[in-house]
Order: sequence, then structure tokens, then C-alpha cells
Amino acid sequence: MPDDLGARLRAIPPVDAVIAAAREAGSGLSDEALPRLIRAELDEVRAALVAGERLDRIAILDRLAQTAMALERPRLTPVLNATGVIIHTNLGRAPVSVETAEAMRDAAASAVPLEIDPASNARGGRMREIALLLRVLTGAEAALVVNNCAAAVLLTLAATAAGRRVVVSRGEAVEIGGGFRIPDVLWQSGATLVEVGTTNRTYVRDYAAATDVDTAAYLKVHPSNFRAYGFTHAVTTAELAVLGRERGVAVLEDLGSGALLETARFGLAPEPTIAQAIAVGADLVMASGDKLLGGPQAGIIAGSARWVEAVSRHPLARAVRADKTTLAGIAATLRHYARGEAESHIPVWRMIAANPEAIHERAQAIVGALASGGIAADLESVNATVGGGSLPGETLPSWAIALEPMAGEPVDALARRLRLGSPGVFGRIEHDRLLLDPRTILPEDDEALIVALQRALTRET
Ligand SMILES: *Cc1c(COP(=O)(O)O)cnc(C)c1O
Repeated sequence: MPDDLGARLRAIPPVDAVIAAAREAGSGLSDEALPRLIRAELDEVRAALVAGERLDRIAILDRLAQTAMALERPRLTPVLNATGVIIHTNLGRAPVSVETAEAMRDAAASAVPLEIDPASNARGGRMREIALLLRVLTGAEAALVVNNCAAAVLLTLAATAAGRRVVVSRGEAVEIGGGFRIPDVLWQSGATLVEVGTTNRTYVRDYAAATDVDTAAYLKVHPSNFRAYGFTHAVTTAELAVLGRERGVAVLEDLGSGALLETARFGLAPEPTIAQAIAVGADLVMASGDKLLGGPQAGIIAGSARWVEAVSRHPLARAVRADKTTLAGIAATLRHYARGEAESHIPVWRMIAANPEAIHERAQAIVGALASGGIAADLESVNATVGGGSLPGETLPSWAIALEPMAGEPVDALARRLRLGSPGVFGRIEHDRLLLDPRTILPEDDEALIVALQRALTRET
């Protein structure tokens, strides 16, 4: 075997030959960047050869030239999310409204009066606009925006409870995904976790019994994409707020999704809103900007002025501070709610609010357009989901365009072809058919979907 490996390794071309091949292919990388990329890639090629992969010199040269070319093309270009999952984590969660994207682009490209009042030229006011919008929308006295909800939870715990105890229900000491585990975050904040109740049932008396002079906070956590059914009991925020006031303990609620609109209006289970949590007396609530809020990635901390002030002054606040682009985007998104136009402007809510008849009509038009190009597709009744860790088990009725692979082609290969198209199209596979759900595509993108499908499906025939 060693001889065989030696022979295989001799296929590795010299760096100069690869540089020449990459230049031939049209690489515009600089004379510093290109050799570095090639050396790094050759290390990977060597590892692949050692691992037993068979590559000849031509294949290696080709692969490296392709990698060099690929690096010059942006990878995060728009794709069409036809998966039927509205807030799709792997596809970047919430797409933002046109107005939000414009506000973010403008703020990114210019100087903006981020911390200065143009009238008085006095310093300050980084959060003023957003705090006022959130006050109008949720009743919160004050608010702060940080990088994401994970940062919001960590900062809030550090600022309110470091060195002291935080009581959490056993049923809510959950992992949300992406390594975000409530017990670990609590530990990182410097607070001590006190778990009460059982996995399925927790009562107010459990929190009361665990409260001592060292107890700083009760933390309520939205269990996100996990749900306990059957013999369960959880304590409401309202009950905790009463107990918290009585015992001088802060009541914190990690809402996760943080809806500003009532999901029940759209035939979904009720998702707690930021306004409800504030109204029943939570001292601070934390929510994501890019889940049901439908804005850019951010973490919102809203609640009483005293606590928001304390959180803002904590040294970690600077470490997780949101930039001007995020602040401009969150403000633009919140303005849609303030104007009462969330359902017509914010993509997440447009997708949730779309009625099945309208989706059926769009899907049928897409199938018709494909048929006129000789591409066969059916309609299939399906269920879409909200995703993003909100509303587990809840579905929205929808209609998918169902594509059958050509004879002999595995459905995975068809799905791959569409993902690599221009624009890429992401669907889902169910019983050997590729389903494309228009609920998670905005109607103005239907034409782009048709074009992408026509390109990807007629290329080989
Ligand atoms: C999603 C989620 C988080 C993390 O939010 P990010 O914005 O992704 O950092 C925290 N808590 C809950 C309950 C969540 O659902």
C-alpha cells in the first residue's frame, strides 16, 4: 500500500503549474492571495489522497483552478426558498422587507447620525428611535438592541444576576439549537442556575420555595422547537410577575421568536407576544430580530427603564453591541408594525398571511408556464411551517409544485441541479418527488422561479 500512496502523491502538481492553470482559467486573485490559496488547497488534496481518494494531475489542476475562480464569486447570493419553511435557519432566517434592506444598505454605505442629535449636536441617542418604536408597539418603557437573542439572554443574565441565583423550571432548561443551552448560558453569565419543578410540571410554589435572599431572577424560557404534550403544567409570566414583586426578584423572559402580531389570527397556535409579556409584568423580555419579528439578525431587550438602564451599563453590552446597519434595519422593520402594514410589507408575515387559494393560483400558473416549455409538473396539497424555532408542530395549508425526476435520475440529483441553478432553488423531497412550495417565495419572485426551473430542467435535454 505505501507504494501505491507514493504514486498517488506524485500526482500533486507543483505550485507554479497550478498558478499557471488558475491564471489560464481567468483567476484575478492577487499574486499574494493566489499562491496562498493554492498551498492551502494542495494540503487538502494531499489529505484526500492519503485518505484514499484517487485524483490524477489533470483532475487536481482542474479542481484548484475551479476553487480559485469560485473564491472570486460571492457565495451568499440570493436563492429561492421553496422549502415550505418560512424562517429557514440554513437559508438565513427571515428575509427582510425592501424598505428594511434599503435602510440597511444606506446606513452601511454612509455616515449616519448614530450617536448625535442633529438639532443640538449633543452626543447620545443610539437607541432612542428603536426604544420609542418598541414603546409604542409593546408598552415597554425602554429597550436595547444587541447582536442576537443569544447575546441578549447572556447580557441580561450577567447584568441582573451575576454572582447570584436564577430560578428556572426544569421543563425550560432547554437546548434551543446551535449549541445554545440555557444551563450553559447561565453559567457563562456568572449566575447560578437553580432548577425547580419536574420536566413536565412546575408550579408557582416551586419558584417560591426556591427563593432566598440570594435569588436575583426568575427566568422563563420559550421552549422553542420543543413541546411537551399531555400531563404538563407551566407557570405563566403573570404568576411569576406577582411572585417576583412580592419577593423582590426580577422576572426575565426569553421569548425567542418574539412576535409582535398575534399568530392566532392566521390559524396558528398563539405565540406569546412581546406586548403580552410586558403587559403581565415581565421586567425584561428578550427576543430575536430575525424570527417572527421579520427583521435582520438582532436581539431585543425590552422592559422597565430601570432594568434596561442596568443592562445597558454592563461591560458586556459593548461586546455585543449592534452596528448602525442592524439598528437601521430593526427600526425600518418596526416602522412597518407602527404603520399597521406588517402583513403587507414584512416577508415573514406576507408568507404567513398568504391564503391557500392564492397560493394554489400561483402554483398553477407556474405549472402552466413550465408545461408550455415542455416540463411536466403537478400540484400537490402540502403543509408549510413557520420554522425558526417558533410554533413547533403547527402548519399552514399550502400547494406545492411537484417535480418527478427524469427516468433513471435519482430525485436527489434533480434537487442538486436546482440548488446549483441560477438562481438556486431549494425545495424538499417527499416520496421521491421534489416539492416546491410557493408560500415561502414572494409572488414578485414567481417569475424568477419559473426562469430558474426552465434553465435547470431543460439544460440537459
Ligand atoms: C432562537 C432562540 C434564541 C437564540 O436567538 P438568536 O437570535 O438566534 O441568537 C434564544 N432563545 C430562544 C427561546 C430562542 O427560540
